[in-house]
Amino acid sequence: MAGKKGQTPVMKQFWDAKSKHPDALMLFRMGDFYETFDNDALLASEILGIALTKRANGAASTVPLAGFPYHSLEQFLHKLLKAGHRVAICEQVEDPKKAIGIVKREVVEVLSPGTALTEKYLDHNRNNFLASIFVDSSKFGLTLLDYSTGEFLGGEWGNQDILHVLKRYTITEIIIPESQKQILSSMINIDQYFVTTIPDWVSEIETANEILLDQFKTQSLKGFGIEDRCLIVSSSGCALHYVNQNFQNKTDHITSFSLIQEDGIMGVDAFTIRNLEIFRSLSNQGVHGTLIKVIDKTITSAGSRILKQWLSQPLTDLKEINSRLSRVNECFTNGNLKDDIRHLLKNVSDIDRIIARLSTHKAHPKDIVNLGVSLQQIKNINPLIGKNETSLQSLLSQIIDTSLIEEEISKTLKEEPPVNINKGGFIKDGFSKELDEYRQLSENASEWLVKMQIDEQKKTGIPSLKIGFNRVFGYYIDVTKTHIDKVPENYIRKQTLTNSERYFTEELKVYEEKILSVEDKIIALESKLFDELKIQIMEYIKAIQQNSKILSQIDIATSLAELAIRNDYIKPKLTNKLVLDIKDSRHPVVETLLPLGEDFIPNDIKLDCTSKQIALITGPNMAGKSTYLRQVGLIVLMAQIGSFVPARKANIGIVDKLFTRVGASDNLAGGESTFLVEMNETANILNNATPQSLILLDEIGRGTSTYDGMSIAWAVTEYLHNKEGIQAKTIFATHYHELVDLVNQLPRGINLNVAVKEHGDSVIFLRKIIEGGADKSYGIHVAEMAGLPKAVLKRATSILSDLSSEEKYLPSTSLKIEPISQMDLFLEKEKLVRNELKSVNINNLTPLEALAKLDELQKSVNEE
Ligand code: ATP
Repeated sequence: MAGKKGQTPVMKQFWDAKSKHPDALMLFRMGDFYETFDNDALLASEILGIALTKRANGAASTVPLAGFPYHSLEQFLHKLLKAGHRVAICEQVEDPKKAIGIVKREVVEVLSPGTALTEKYLDHNRNNFLASIFVDSSKFGLTLLDYSTGEFLGGEWGNQDILHVLKRYTITEIIIPESQKQILSSMINIDQYFVTTIPDWVSEIETANEILLDQFKTQSLKGFGIEDRCLIVSSSGCALHYVNQNFQNKTDHITSFSLIQEDGIMGVDAFTIRNLEIFRSLSNQGVHGTLIKVIDKTITSAGSRILKQWLSQPLTDLKEINSRLSRVNECFTNGNLKDDIRHLLKNVSDIDRIIARLSTHKAHPKDIVNLGVSLQQIKNINPLIGKNETSLQSLLSQIIDTSLIEEEISKTLKEEPPVNINKGGFIKDGFSKELDEYRQLSENASEWLVKMQIDEQKKTGIPSLKIGFNRVFGYYIDVTKTHIDKVPENYIRKQTLTNSERYFTEELKVYEEKILSVEDKIIALESKLFDELKIQIMEYIKAIQQNSKILSQIDIATSLAELAIRNDYIKPKLTNKLVLDIKDSRHPVVETLLPLGEDFIPNDIKLDCTSKQIALITGPNMAGKSTYLRQVGLIVLMAQIGSFVPARKANIGIVDKLFTRVGASDNLAGGESTFLVEMNETANILNNATPQSLILLDEIGRGTSTYDGMSIAWAVTEYLHNKEGIQAKTIFATHYHELVDLVNQLPRGINLNVAVKEHGDSVIFLRKIIEGGADKSYGIHVAEMAGLPKAVLKRATSILSDLSSEEKYLPSTSLKIEPISQMDLFLEKEKLVRNELKSVNINNLTPLEALAKLDELQKSVNEE
């Protein structure tokens, strides 16, 4: 279709624009409509449910067409983005009235899921990250850019870690250099993302460096800590280039870069985030039943977004954790202060996203008014903070004064600007003398029209004579047909309707020109004054962004205090020792979901690295093992983001890495072999844990046959206990009661179980964790509770009694970590036998020789 002979000039213009953005669905502005053509029209009509028609295209026949009014852009754009399309917006870039020939049009924006700005598309409480990846051998540079807030951060990771980092953030698009697509696809499952490739030259270090320096207007990247980090520079340069291209350099709100430091951050991998149900529930994939749902009591959208970032990056830096905890404590102990601050925070809008709209020329006067009000709240919060609230004070002391800009906003804009700003009316009276004069003229003009109508009615004797206005014909005098004979000679006919005639006079024409030109002048002047105000605000971008961050932290402190008061949490004590001592701990989520009248039973946990390193919990199904295991993980995680915790007392040695693994049958992740996934996850722990780590294992080994599973569980436990350099605090919930004996033999192992009370034939779960191993699994009782037929239960009881009388499985030796393990020896032997077999030439052997060979091989295998 492109370049077809005989097509109309507009269609030629369309195809020229489209050829520069072949992979984007183009919204082509034509007057008051956005039109789509050809294949784009087929797609748009299907996704948006709008009518598909045809447009004549000169001698080049017709082309499919579908369009919608320009004011519906927001409404339709997010649907196209959600459907996974890139959208190019081609605007009229000159005033159609002044155009010679066809109006000039240009693509002014290319939107994609990772760079969308539309209100409807974005979730206020979540970041919308674009991830840019650059790979070199097996190391990755990863940069995250939230164009809707200006947040720009990144780091460098190895092969495995990058997967976890990608899963930690809400990423809606990935960009990669063209030539790396293939290699990345083999390392990361990138198909689950919206992927965009960009030319390789952008990622070259010199180019990328230049792009970053240009953006930040700095001499070097030293201040951002990435001067020598080539991978990060490349991935960051690509991200900036991409948004600069797509938004014609409207990126002033991206003012700095922060390095994602693994130092000072607790290692929480994607499996742990999933297993602890921090952001999504395992059962329904929604937020119901998650930690974030319970603990997020923030008032502002930015506060809520930052709390999510904190949860995916708990701290290990004691000082920083303690200063967060002190802020929460100050709000906790001074309830009035907390309530007053929270009341003021209700007036704080989404500052970061307003700044992004400002930078992309999308900000509305209402946005700017809200920005002014939001910034003023800082001033209102300041006097509330007392002498004793030193942590809050020190946070507020970092606020940068923006009074000048607040005053400018309130001087310039009306407090309630109109929603439709096309007619102006948002600049305050008294702000500009010139504007006031035009407005006066415009008001007088309408008074003049009313007066003229009355005069003409009197002069002509036509009481129903009216002066009206419409867009096409302008001002007119309307006379109904019954009075036509009274129309004076100076009336000039303009339009004939069924029941009336419309006229104008010379006098009316002169006024029409005057009024219309005044209105044009008002609109032009208001938009000029608004632009000037926006430029002034842009100079304060960095200060405003910093203040917004501080407001978010205050929001989080009051939110966590509110949570602690409502849910009866206490302030944990964090130390650098290798201990975990929590009294009466509770599961923060399960306790909120119990049916009315059912109380959550609190439990203690005490682990250290000298005598209680590994705790094995046995007990029946449904007794509460998983809940206990997870509550310990959640409490540690909450403490290390700086939150109070559900317990009576908590002494927590800082954990460097938190691992949580759930056995295959508890794991709902489908698609792959669940046992293999479980083993991958377990391998990751054994390779990465340190004595400062906390490992929570739930039913590891359950995804395979009983003996295989038990053997693996056994060996894993021994390894964690014996291996020099690991010896991490571990809680292991299992059904394998045989492991109780193993743990009894381990010097730093303890057995715990969930107390159960037998009452006649039934079993009552007491939910209390007590010392010692469980001796029975009560599986058949649980089956009975679930309503299995009596016959099945009876048969199961008899099988169980037969099996129980058989010998117990109990390995005689314990795992030793030697240079060559038993397993290695076995493999070595197997290899020798295989090679021997391969070398035998059967055709040359007599039957006797064959028998002798077989005997030899058998002996070699049987050798100890
Ligand atoms: P399985 O071995 O079958 O996975 P489990 O021993 O891990 O079972 P959980 O899933 O932890 O058992 O607990 C089962 C249910 O018991 C929970 O959903 C919760 O409703 C309740 N529960 C667990 N712990 C407690 C507690 N401490 N207080 C009150 N109710 C609890």
